[in-house]
Amino acid sequence: MTISLNATHDPQLRSWVESANIAGTDFPIQNLPFAVFRTQGTQEAARCGVGIGDEILDISACLQLFTGDARQAADACAESTLNALMALGNQAASALRGALSRLLAAGNEEHRAVLSSALIPMSNAELLLPVKIAGYTDFFASIHHATNAGRLFRPDAPLLPNYKYVPVGYNGRANSIRVSGDRVQRPWGQLKAADAPAPVFAPAKRLDYEVELGMYIGTSSRDGEPVSVANAWDHIFGFSLLNDWSARDVQSWEYQPLGPFLAKSFATSVSPWVVTAEALAPFRVAVLTRAEGDPAPLPHLLDAADQSSGALNIRIDATLRTAQMRENDAPAHTLSRSNTELLYWSFAQMVAHHSSNGSAIDTGDLMGSGTVSGASQDALGSLLEITRGGAEPMLLSATGEQRTFLEDGDEVIFRGRCERDGHVPIGFGICTGTLLPAHKPS
Ligand code: MN
Repeated sequence: MTISLNATHDPQLRSWVESANIAGTDFPIQNLPFAVFRTQGTQEAARCGVGIGDEILDISACLQLFTGDARQAADACAESTLNALMALGNQAASALRGALSRLLAAGNEEHRAVLSSALIPMSNAELLLPVKIAGYTDFFASIHHATNAGRLFRPDAPLLPNYKYVPVGYNGRANSIRVSGDRVQRPWGQLKAADAPAPVFAPAKRLDYEVELGMYIGTSSRDGEPVSVANAWDHIFGFSLLNDWSARDVQSWEYQPLGPFLAKSFATSVSPWVVTAEALAPFRVAVLTRAEGDPAPLPHLLDAADQSSGALNIRIDATLRTAQMRENDAPAHTLSRSNTELLYWSFAQMVAHHSSNGSAIDTGDLMGSGTVSGASQDALGSLLEITRGGAEPMLLSATGEQRTFLEDGDEVIFRGRCERDGHVPIGFGICTGTLLPAHKPS
Protein backbone atom coordinates (compact mmCIF):
# COMPACT_ATOMS: atom_id res chain seq x y z
CA MET A 1 0.00 0.00 0.00
CA THR A 2 1.48 3.34 -0.96
CA ILE A 3 0.84 6.29 1.27
CA SER A 4 -0.80 9.08 -0.63
CA LEU A 5 -3.13 11.96 -0.01
CA ASN A 6 -6.84 11.22 -0.13
CA ALA A 7 -10.16 12.73 0.90
CA THR A 8 -9.34 12.33 4.62
CA HIS A 9 -6.52 14.89 4.28
CA ASP A 10 -8.68 17.53 2.56
CA PRO A 11 -7.78 20.83 4.28
CA GLN A 12 -11.35 22.07 3.73
CA LEU A 13 -12.81 19.30 5.91
CA ARG A 14 -14.45 20.35 9.17
CA SER A 15 -16.23 18.25 11.76
CA TRP A 16 -19.57 18.65 13.50
CA VAL A 17 -17.54 18.00 16.68
CA GLU A 18 -16.89 21.71 17.19
CA SER A 19 -13.73 21.32 19.30
CA ALA A 20 -12.05 19.63 16.32
CA ASN A 21 -12.27 22.88 14.35
CA ILE A 22 -10.55 25.14 16.89
CA ALA A 23 -7.24 26.51 15.62
CA GLY A 24 -4.36 24.91 17.50
CA THR A 25 -6.10 21.63 18.33
CA ASP A 26 -3.92 18.54 17.98
CA PHE A 27 -6.90 16.48 16.86
CA PRO A 28 -8.73 17.97 13.87
CA ILE A 29 -10.69 15.61 11.62
CA GLN A 30 -7.56 15.21 9.46
CA ASN A 31 -5.73 13.43 12.32
CA LEU A 32 -7.99 10.73 13.85
CA PRO A 33 -5.31 9.04 16.02
CA PHE A 34 -5.93 5.87 18.03
CA ALA A 35 -5.66 5.37 21.79
CA VAL A 36 -6.71 2.86 24.43
CA PHE A 37 -8.90 4.25 27.20
CA ARG A 38 -11.47 3.71 29.91
CA THR A 39 -13.64 6.18 31.82
CA GLN A 40 -11.56 7.69 34.60
CA GLY A 41 -12.11 6.26 38.07
CA THR A 42 -13.86 3.14 36.81
CA GLN A 43 -12.80 -0.46 36.29
CA GLU A 44 -14.45 -0.59 32.84
CA ALA A 45 -12.83 -2.77 30.22
CA ALA A 46 -10.18 -0.85 28.29
CA ARG A 47 -10.92 -0.43 24.57
CA CYS A 48 -9.69 1.45 21.53
CA GLY A 49 -10.92 4.90 20.62
CA VAL A 50 -10.22 7.65 18.12
CA GLY A 51 -9.38 11.25 19.06
CA ILE A 52 -11.49 14.04 17.59
CA GLY A 53 -11.18 17.56 19.06
CA ASP A 54 -11.32 17.15 22.83
CA GLU A 55 -13.37 13.94 22.65
CA ILE A 56 -12.71 10.23 22.19
CA LEU A 57 -14.97 8.23 19.94
CA ASP A 58 -15.62 4.83 21.51
CA ILE A 59 -15.59 2.70 18.35
CA SER A 60 -17.19 -0.28 20.10
CA ALA A 61 -20.22 1.87 20.95
CA CYS A 62 -21.05 2.58 17.29
CA LEU A 63 -19.99 -0.64 15.53
CA GLN A 64 -23.21 -0.83 13.51
CA LEU A 65 -22.09 2.17 11.42
CA PHE A 66 -19.24 0.28 9.75
CA THR A 67 -19.12 -2.30 6.96
CA GLY A 68 -16.49 -4.34 5.10
CA ASP A 69 -12.83 -3.68 5.97
CA ALA A 70 -13.85 -0.76 8.19
CA ARG A 71 -16.11 -3.08 10.21
CA GLN A 72 -13.31 -5.61 10.60
CA ALA A 73 -11.06 -2.84 11.93
CA ALA A 74 -13.84 -1.52 14.18
CA ASP A 75 -14.39 -5.00 15.65
CA ALA A 76 -10.68 -5.15 16.53
CA CYS A 77 -11.14 -1.94 18.54
CA ALA A 78 -12.98 -3.90 21.26
CA GLU A 79 -9.58 -5.19 22.42
CA SER A 80 -7.63 -3.65 25.29
CA THR A 81 -4.64 -2.88 23.05
CA LEU A 82 -4.24 -1.72 19.45
CA ASN A 83 -2.38 -4.93 18.49
CA ALA A 84 -5.37 -6.67 16.89
CA LEU A 85 -6.15 -3.59 14.80
CA MET A 86 -2.49 -3.15 13.87
CA ALA A 87 -2.16 -6.81 12.83
CA LEU A 88 -4.97 -6.42 10.27
CA GLY A 89 -2.77 -4.21 8.13
CA ASN A 90 -2.92 -0.58 7.12
CA GLN A 91 -5.65 -1.17 4.55
CA ALA A 92 -8.16 -2.04 7.27
CA ALA A 93 -7.14 0.88 9.47
CA SER A 94 -7.36 3.11 6.41
CA ALA A 95 -10.89 1.91 5.63
CA LEU A 96 -11.91 2.72 9.21
CA ARG A 97 -10.26 6.14 8.95
CA GLY A 98 -12.11 6.84 5.72
CA ALA A 99 -15.45 5.87 7.24
CA LEU A 100 -14.80 7.96 10.37
CA SER A 101 -13.82 10.95 8.26
CA ARG A 102 -17.16 10.80 6.43
CA LEU A 103 -19.23 10.12 9.56
CA LEU A 104 -17.67 12.96 11.57
CA ALA A 105 -17.61 15.51 8.73
CA ALA A 106 -19.55 18.74 9.13
CA GLY A 107 -22.71 18.56 7.07
CA ASN A 108 -23.18 14.83 7.60
CA GLU A 109 -25.95 14.67 10.19
CA GLU A 110 -27.10 11.17 9.28
CA HIS A 111 -25.57 9.24 12.19
CA ARG A 112 -24.79 12.15 14.49
CA ALA A 113 -27.06 10.96 17.29
CA VAL A 114 -25.46 7.49 17.48
CA LEU A 115 -21.96 8.94 17.23
CA SER A 116 -22.62 11.66 19.81
CA SER A 117 -23.63 9.05 22.34
CA ALA A 118 -20.32 7.25 21.68
CA LEU A 119 -18.21 10.37 22.39
CA ILE A 120 -16.42 10.67 25.74
CA PRO A 121 -14.64 13.88 26.81
CA MET A 122 -10.88 13.32 26.93
CA SER A 123 -10.93 15.00 30.33
CA ASN A 124 -13.06 12.09 31.65
CA ALA A 125 -10.86 9.38 30.16
CA GLU A 126 -7.88 7.47 31.47
CA LEU A 127 -5.48 6.83 28.59
CA LEU A 128 -3.55 3.57 28.85
CA LEU A 129 -0.47 2.12 27.19
CA PRO A 130 -1.89 1.74 23.66
CA VAL A 131 0.12 -1.26 22.47
CA LYS A 132 1.31 -4.50 24.01
CA ILE A 133 4.96 -4.04 23.17
CA ALA A 134 6.46 -7.05 21.41
CA GLY A 135 10.07 -5.93 21.11
CA TYR A 136 11.69 -2.58 21.73
CA THR A 137 14.61 -1.28 19.71
CA ASP A 138 16.14 2.16 20.01
CA PHE A 139 18.02 3.68 17.09
CA PHE A 140 20.50 6.58 16.94
CA ALA A 141 19.31 8.24 13.71
CA SER A 142 20.12 11.90 14.39
CA ILE A 143 23.61 12.69 13.16
CA HIS A 144 23.54 15.88 15.22
CA HIS A 145 22.91 13.90 18.41
CA ALA A 146 25.47 11.25 17.47
CA THR A 147 28.06 13.95 16.83
CA ASN A 148 27.26 15.96 19.98
CA ALA A 149 27.30 12.87 22.21
CA GLY A 150 30.41 11.49 20.52
CA ARG A 151 32.28 14.77 20.94
CA LEU A 152 32.06 14.46 24.73
CA PHE A 153 34.05 11.21 24.58
CA ARG A 154 36.12 11.69 21.43
CA PRO A 155 36.63 15.42 20.71
CA ASP A 156 38.73 14.75 17.60
CA ALA A 157 36.60 12.00 16.03
CA PRO A 158 33.08 12.34 17.40
CA LEU A 159 31.40 10.15 14.78
CA LEU A 160 32.43 6.50 14.65
CA PRO A 161 33.27 5.10 11.18
CA ASN A 162 30.15 2.91 11.00
CA TYR A 163 27.65 5.74 11.48
CA LYS A 164 27.06 6.64 7.82
CA TYR A 165 26.64 2.97 6.83
CA VAL A 166 24.71 1.42 9.72
CA PRO A 167 21.47 2.71 11.28
CA VAL A 168 22.94 2.04 14.72
CA GLY A 169 20.57 0.71 17.37
CA TYR A 170 20.29 -1.56 20.39
CA ASN A 171 17.61 -3.90 21.68
CA GLY A 172 15.91 -2.43 24.72
CA ARG A 173 13.48 -3.96 27.16
CA ALA A 174 9.78 -4.20 26.22
CA ASN A 175 8.52 -4.02 29.80
CA SER A 176 10.22 -0.68 30.36
CA ILE A 177 7.65 1.01 28.10
CA ARG A 178 4.94 2.94 29.95
CA VAL A 179 2.37 5.50 29.02
CA SER A 180 2.77 9.23 29.57
CA GLY A 181 2.11 10.13 33.22
CA ASP A 182 3.08 6.71 34.57
CA ARG A 183 5.78 6.41 37.20
CA VAL A 184 9.39 7.14 36.37
CA GLN A 185 11.75 6.53 39.26
CA ARG A 186 15.40 7.39 39.64
CA PRO A 187 17.22 4.06 39.31
CA TRP A 188 20.05 2.64 41.37
CA GLY A 189 23.10 1.49 39.50
CA GLN A 190 26.85 1.05 39.42
CA LEU A 191 28.51 4.46 39.29
CA LYS A 192 32.21 4.98 38.86
CA ALA A 193 33.87 8.36 39.03
CA ALA A 194 36.73 8.76 36.54
CA ASP A 195 39.31 9.04 39.32
CA ALA A 196 37.82 6.35 41.58
CA PRO A 197 39.41 2.90 41.63
CA ALA A 198 36.07 1.07 41.83
CA PRO A 199 32.35 1.73 41.33
CA VAL A 200 29.74 2.20 44.06
CA PHE A 201 26.10 1.04 43.95
CA ALA A 202 23.94 4.14 44.49
CA PRO A 203 21.05 6.14 43.01
CA ALA A 204 22.01 7.54 39.60
CA LYS A 205 23.00 11.21 39.74
CA ARG A 206 23.14 12.04 36.04
CA LEU A 207 19.51 11.40 35.12
CA ASP A 208 18.55 12.55 31.62
CA TYR A 209 15.72 12.38 29.07
CA GLU A 210 15.89 11.87 25.30
CA VAL A 211 13.46 13.50 22.84
CA GLU A 212 12.42 10.76 20.42
CA LEU A 213 9.74 9.59 18.05
CA GLY A 214 8.50 5.99 18.49
CA MET A 215 7.37 3.90 15.52
CA TYR A 216 4.92 0.99 15.91
CA ILE A 217 5.05 -2.05 13.65
CA GLY A 218 1.61 -3.21 12.42
CA THR A 219 1.85 -6.33 10.29
CA SER A 220 4.68 -8.71 11.04
CA SER A 221 7.22 -9.95 8.52
CA ARG A 222 8.28 -13.55 8.02
CA ASP A 223 11.36 -14.98 9.60
CA GLY A 224 14.07 -15.23 6.97
CA GLU A 225 12.49 -12.63 4.66
CA PRO A 226 14.00 -9.17 5.04
CA VAL A 227 11.67 -6.19 4.48
CA SER A 228 12.88 -3.88 1.73
CA VAL A 229 12.98 -0.12 2.15
CA ALA A 230 10.30 0.11 -0.56
CA ASN A 231 7.92 -2.18 1.35
CA ALA A 232 8.67 -0.96 4.86
CA TRP A 233 5.67 1.38 5.11
CA ASP A 234 3.34 -1.61 4.64
CA HIS A 235 4.52 -2.64 8.11
CA ILE A 236 4.53 0.78 9.81
CA PHE A 237 1.25 1.43 11.61
CA GLY A 238 1.93 4.74 13.32
CA PHE A 239 3.95 6.90 15.70
CA SER A 240 4.00 8.25 19.27
CA LEU A 241 6.28 10.61 21.12
CA LEU A 242 8.88 8.73 23.16
CA ASN A 243 11.09 9.69 26.10
CA ASP A 244 14.07 7.38 26.52
CA TRP A 245 14.96 8.19 30.15
CA SER A 246 18.69 7.61 30.59
CA ALA A 247 21.05 7.32 33.56
CA ARG A 248 24.25 8.72 32.06
CA ASP A 249 26.52 7.73 34.93
CA VAL A 250 25.28 4.14 34.83
CA GLN A 251 25.58 4.18 31.03
CA SER A 252 29.15 5.43 30.86
CA TRP A 253 30.43 2.63 33.12
CA GLU A 254 28.35 -0.28 31.78
CA TYR A 255 28.19 0.35 28.02
CA GLN A 256 31.51 -1.07 26.91
CA PRO A 257 31.63 -3.30 24.96
CA LEU A 258 27.97 -4.34 24.47
CA GLY A 259 26.04 -1.07 24.61
CA PRO A 260 23.31 0.37 26.85
CA PHE A 261 21.65 -1.97 29.35
CA LEU A 262 20.39 -0.95 32.80
CA ALA A 263 20.99 2.74 32.12
CA LYS A 264 17.96 2.67 29.81
CA SER A 265 15.76 -0.24 30.88
CA PHE A 266 14.23 1.30 34.03
CA ALA A 267 11.69 3.45 32.14
CA THR A 268 10.71 4.64 28.66
CA SER A 269 7.60 6.82 28.30
CA VAL A 270 5.35 7.03 25.24
CA SER A 271 2.47 9.38 24.48
CA PRO A 272 -0.94 7.64 24.53
CA TRP A 273 -2.04 8.68 21.03
CA VAL A 274 -0.82 6.71 18.03
CA VAL A 275 -0.87 8.95 14.96
CA THR A 276 -1.20 6.74 11.91
CA ALA A 277 1.26 6.69 9.04
CA GLU A 278 -1.66 7.70 6.81
CA ALA A 279 -2.46 10.82 8.87
CA LEU A 280 1.19 11.86 8.47
CA ALA A 281 1.10 11.66 4.65
CA PRO A 282 0.90 15.46 4.16
CA PHE A 283 4.00 15.91 6.30
CA ARG A 284 6.33 13.59 4.41
CA VAL A 285 9.47 15.27 3.15
CA ALA A 286 12.76 14.32 1.53
CA VAL A 287 15.34 12.53 3.64
CA LEU A 288 18.15 14.84 4.76
CA THR A 289 20.65 15.35 1.96
CA ARG A 290 23.94 13.77 2.87
CA ALA A 291 26.94 16.06 3.08
CA GLU A 292 29.33 16.04 0.17
CA GLY A 293 31.84 13.26 0.64
CA ASP A 294 29.45 11.11 2.71
CA PRO A 295 29.01 7.58 1.33
CA ALA A 296 25.67 6.66 -0.22
CA PRO A 297 23.70 4.07 1.77
CA LEU A 298 24.44 0.51 0.66
CA PRO A 299 21.99 -0.70 -2.02
CA HIS A 300 19.75 -2.64 0.40
CA LEU A 301 19.18 0.60 2.35
CA LEU A 302 18.66 2.86 -0.63
CA ASP A 303 15.35 3.53 -2.37
CA ALA A 304 14.71 6.57 -4.56
CA ALA A 305 11.10 7.08 -3.46
CA ASP A 306 12.12 6.82 0.18
CA GLN A 307 14.87 9.37 -0.33
CA SER A 308 12.45 11.84 -1.89
CA SER A 309 9.57 11.47 0.60
CA GLY A 310 10.52 9.08 3.41
CA ALA A 311 11.24 11.58 6.17
CA LEU A 312 8.62 13.17 8.44
CA ASN A 313 8.29 16.83 9.32
CA ILE A 314 7.35 16.53 12.99
CA ARG A 315 8.42 19.28 15.37
CA ILE A 316 8.94 18.09 18.93
CA ASP A 317 9.11 20.67 21.71
CA ALA A 318 10.50 19.73 25.11
CA THR A 319 9.86 21.67 28.32
CA LEU A 320 10.87 21.23 31.97
CA ARG A 321 8.70 22.02 34.99
CA THR A 322 10.42 21.77 38.34
CA ALA A 323 8.71 21.35 41.70
CA GLN A 324 9.57 24.99 42.44
CA MET A 325 7.92 26.12 39.19
CA ARG A 326 4.78 24.22 40.15
CA GLU A 327 4.75 25.79 43.63
CA ASN A 328 5.29 29.30 42.27
CA ASP A 329 2.98 28.82 39.31
CA ALA A 330 5.95 29.85 37.14
CA PRO A 331 6.04 29.04 33.41
CA ALA A 332 7.78 25.86 32.29
CA HIS A 333 11.31 26.17 30.90
CA THR A 334 11.76 25.53 27.19
CA LEU A 335 14.46 22.89 26.72
CA SER A 336 14.46 22.42 22.96
CA ARG A 337 12.57 22.49 19.70
CA SER A 338 13.75 19.92 17.17
CA ASN A 339 12.36 18.17 14.11
CA THR A 340 12.44 14.57 12.89
CA GLU A 341 12.98 15.78 9.30
CA LEU A 342 16.68 16.19 10.21
CA LEU A 343 17.26 12.49 10.94
CA TYR A 344 20.11 10.94 8.96
CA TRP A 345 18.22 7.66 8.53
CA SER A 346 14.59 7.28 7.44
CA PHE A 347 12.06 5.13 9.28
CA ALA A 348 11.88 2.76 6.29
CA GLN A 349 15.66 2.37 6.41
CA MET A 350 15.43 1.49 10.12
CA VAL A 351 12.84 -1.22 9.38
CA ALA A 352 14.88 -2.56 6.45
CA HIS A 353 18.07 -2.62 8.49
CA HIS A 354 16.30 -4.25 11.46
CA SER A 355 15.11 -7.14 9.29
CA SER A 356 18.11 -7.30 6.93
CA ASN A 357 19.60 -10.32 8.70
CA GLY A 358 16.34 -12.23 8.30
CA SER A 359 15.05 -11.53 11.80
CA ALA A 360 11.29 -10.96 11.65
CA ILE A 361 9.60 -7.79 12.83
CA ASP A 362 6.44 -8.35 14.87
CA THR A 363 3.10 -6.69 15.45
CA GLY A 364 3.59 -4.39 18.43
CA ASP A 365 7.31 -3.85 17.95
CA LEU A 366 8.33 -0.37 19.01
CA MET A 367 11.31 1.32 17.39
CA GLY A 368 12.65 4.59 18.78
CA SER A 369 14.27 7.09 16.42
CA GLY A 370 17.07 7.95 18.80
CA THR A 371 17.42 11.41 20.30
CA VAL A 372 16.11 13.99 17.85
CA SER A 373 18.58 16.88 17.86
CA GLY A 374 19.15 19.61 15.31
CA ALA A 375 22.18 21.70 14.44
CA SER A 376 21.36 24.72 16.58
CA GLN A 377 21.76 25.26 20.33
CA ASP A 378 17.99 25.40 20.87
CA ALA A 379 17.46 22.05 19.12
CA LEU A 380 19.36 19.71 21.46
CA GLY A 381 17.22 16.75 22.56
CA SER A 382 18.95 15.77 25.83
CA LEU A 383 20.58 17.42 28.85
CA LEU A 384 23.79 15.57 27.97
CA GLU A 385 24.01 17.85 24.95
CA ILE A 386 22.52 21.03 26.46
CA THR A 387 24.89 21.04 29.45
CA ARG A 388 27.79 19.36 27.60
CA GLY A 389 27.86 16.37 29.85
CA GLY A 390 27.10 18.46 32.93
CA ALA A 391 30.01 20.88 32.40
CA GLU A 392 27.79 23.90 31.63
CA PRO A 393 24.77 24.18 33.95
CA MET A 394 21.51 25.41 32.45
CA LEU A 395 19.84 28.42 34.10
CA LEU A 396 16.07 28.21 34.57
CA SER A 397 15.24 31.89 34.36
CA ALA A 398 11.69 31.64 35.74
CA THR A 399 12.92 30.52 39.18
CA GLY A 400 16.67 31.14 39.10
CA GLU A 401 17.30 27.41 39.55
CA GLN A 402 20.07 25.58 37.71
CA ARG A 403 20.27 22.11 36.26
CA THR A 404 22.97 19.90 34.88
CA PHE A 405 20.83 16.75 35.04
CA LEU A 406 17.29 16.12 36.35
CA GLU A 407 16.36 16.43 40.00
CA ASP A 408 13.61 14.55 41.81
CA GLY A 409 10.24 16.16 41.15
CA ASP A 410 11.23 17.50 37.72
CA GLU A 411 8.59 16.97 35.04
CA VAL A 412 9.71 16.63 31.40
CA ILE A 413 7.01 17.32 28.81
CA PHE A 414 7.15 16.69 25.05
CA ARG A 415 4.69 18.01 22.49
CA GLY A 416 4.66 16.98 18.82
CA ARG A 417 3.17 18.95 15.98
CA CYS A 418 3.09 18.77 12.17
CA GLU A 419 2.61 21.95 10.18
CA ARG A 420 2.85 22.53 6.45
CA ASP A 421 1.44 25.22 4.17
CA GLY A 422 -1.80 24.15 2.55
CA HIS A 423 -2.56 21.50 5.19
CA VAL A 424 -4.38 21.46 8.50
CA PRO A 425 -1.83 21.06 11.33
CA ILE A 426 -2.07 17.89 13.44
CA GLY A 427 -0.48 17.03 16.77
CA PHE A 428 0.54 14.14 18.99
CA GLY A 429 -0.77 15.37 22.35
CA ILE A 430 1.79 15.22 25.15
CA CYS A 431 4.29 12.79 26.59
CA THR A 432 5.09 13.64 30.19
CA GLY A 433 6.80 12.10 33.18
CA THR A 434 7.74 13.34 36.65
CA LEU A 435 10.88 11.92 38.21
CA LEU A 436 10.29 10.15 41.54
CA PRO A 437 13.08 9.77 44.10
CA ALA A 438 15.08 6.54 44.14
CA HIS A 439 13.69 3.82 46.36
CA LYS A 440 15.12 3.65 49.89
CA PRO A 441 17.86 1.10 50.45
CA SER A 442 16.49 -2.11 51.97
MN1 MN B 1 17.54 6.74 23.00
